[in-house]
Amino acid sequence: MIYRARWVLPIDRAPIRDGWVETDLDPDVVRAAAPGRILAVGGGRPPGAPEDLGDVALLPGLVNAHTHLELSWMAGLVPPAESMDAWIRELMRVRQAGPAGGESDVTEAMARAAVAMHATGTVLVGDISNTLVSPRVLTHAGLGGVVFHELIGFNAVDPAGAVRAAWDRVARAQQDLTEAENPLSFSVVAHAPYSVSPALFREIADRRRATPLAVHLAESAEEIEFLRTGQGPIRQMLEALGVWTDTWPVPRTDPVQYLASVGYLQPGVLVVHGVHLTDDNLERLRDARGAIVTCPRSNLWVGGGPPRLSHFYGSRVPIAIGTDSLASTSTLNLFDELAEMRRMAPEVAAGALLDSATRRGAEALGFGHDYGTLTVGKRAALVGVATPAGTRDVEEYLVSGVPADAIRRVA
Ligand SMILES: [Zn+2]
Repeated sequence: MIYRARWVLPIDRAPIRDGWVETDLDPDVVRAAAPGRILAVGGGRPPGAPEDLGDVALLPGLVNAHTHLELSWMAGLVPPAESMDAWIRELMRVRQAGPAGGESDVTEAMARAAVAMHATGTVLVGDISNTLVSPRVLTHAGLGGVVFHELIGFNAVDPAGAVRAAWDRVARAQQDLTEAENPLSFSVVAHAPYSVSPALFREIADRRRATPLAVHLAESAEEIEFLRTGQGPIRQMLEALGVWTDTWPVPRTDPVQYLASVGYLQPGVLVVHGVHLTDDNLERLRDARGAIVTCPRSNLWVGGGPPRLSHFYGSRVPIAIGTDSLASTSTLNLFDELAEMRRMAPEVAAGALLDSATRRGAEALGFGHDYGTLTVGKRAALVGVATPAGTRDVEEYLVSGVPADAIRRVA
């Protein structure tokens, strides 16, 4: 099967005007199994009779590297806040009250959110999961990616036992999955420095497997203050929750050094948010071969402040993109996230933003060999975006906020 389109964006090279992608998909065979592979990519005359998609930009399926599908039922329930402290308090209040319709509301909202992601061009997801419901939800929606089974425990009594139990739950979740057509891998990860004890961090890092670690880091100014001084709104919150302990050694350091001190600054570690990382922090993260997952709309919503996008891109740390959950953003559509990034950082090239939404995301989740670019041998997970006739700069157009109904899955 050959697809011809006004624009082809292989991502590993410049956009091709009037290009085509040849795949091993057979138009006469309806497949339930995995999508095919890319056989060739080019411009000019295609090697056979193509399906002509017309005024469409063809690009690799996108990667949403940070979501919490489990929070989908909170869509619209936790309004934007001035500070992260205020936002988290409201989130906890809503969570405590629970959804009107109980557990079925939770799973239905997750399923709707996953279907919407698929429909808006996402193929791989990095989903944070506390309950491990999401593997099934992702699989049903035709999505692959990484399920990050997240642990919380500021005062964990038995860190080794907690991590062992978490990996056991992962093993059961994997067994429950029927033959998935999309690849799904698993990791056990820590939530954040203010919710996970140093011992639990170390235990998680020590028992890490092939899939990358992830952690919420430097999301708010309050977190930086807490790591430096052990004081501030986060300390007050931990005390109010009854989990503060005087045995917690105040690190008196920055977030990246803190990760290093607990053995968590490993190659491939995904630092989610990183809003308050300094240039020195970014350099250290780059040298450690970590990556950032930026979620700009969520950062603004929760009062964490705008991420320093031009510094991120200037640092040469690989930058992937996430939407975060529907509790802190209005859609899980990655094109909406790209539009916000373009608005925040007009100085960052549109091509670099698209690279983050595809190749960098796939690499960050450990799927760079199969996804993220239109390269011979990779999966033919193709997304088409209708482009207005006469579009001159297709990369700029794609980060300008394309309407959801202009996006479709091609193969
Ligand atoms: Zn998150």
